Amino acid sequence: MAVAINRDLEPLTPHRPVLLLSVLNGAIVVTGQILPHLHFPLLLDSVQVSRYGSEVAGGVLQWRLHPRESVRGTVVLLLDDILDEGVTLKALQEYCLREGAAAVHTAVMVRKQRSRSVDVRVDYVALDVPDRFVFGYGLDARGLGRNAPGIFALPEDV
Ligand code: 5GP
Ligand code: MG
Repeated sequence: MAVAINRDLEPLTPHRPVLLLSVLNGAIVVTGQILPHLHFPLLLDSVQVSRYGSEVAGGVLQWRLHPRESVRGTVVLLLDDILDEGVTLKALQEYCLREGAAAVHTAVMVRKQRSRSVDVRVDYVALDVPDRFVFGYGLDARGLGRNAPGIFALPEDV
């Protein structure tokens, strides 16, 4: 994923750093792992959101942490843990564009293999997984398991 991101974003940054927005807490491991592999000037910032009910397809987000850096005029790289329905990433993408980002690129550590009603563009994916609830590598299962040293599926009968 870092190779693809370097290829696309390095040429865009001779004058202005990219703003890497890490979506906490889930993206914490992939953020730490990818950072030393990105070879262009960047600012690191974080956002934290949760969804208001999974049935809301319009992307109503509950904000816990807004970015401190201004996104206006910058190339933003959104880095999230997992693409499920796509609501979260779509809403964050729209937020950045509303706030005046010059461009928004999106990356996820994990993408679930499933159909999506949300029309969301994801530029970079590290790993595709079956449509199961997964945890580890930053992803939690009821708050636990973020420190599991790989990505694991919960048994289907719990
Ligand atoms: P979406 O808005 O794409 O449906 O949901 C994305 C968010 O839901 C992710 O950022 C993550 O926080 C949570 N999520 C969705 N699927 C899983 C999963 O299998 N495991 C974990 N730990 N979180 C998930
Ligand atoms: Mg998340």
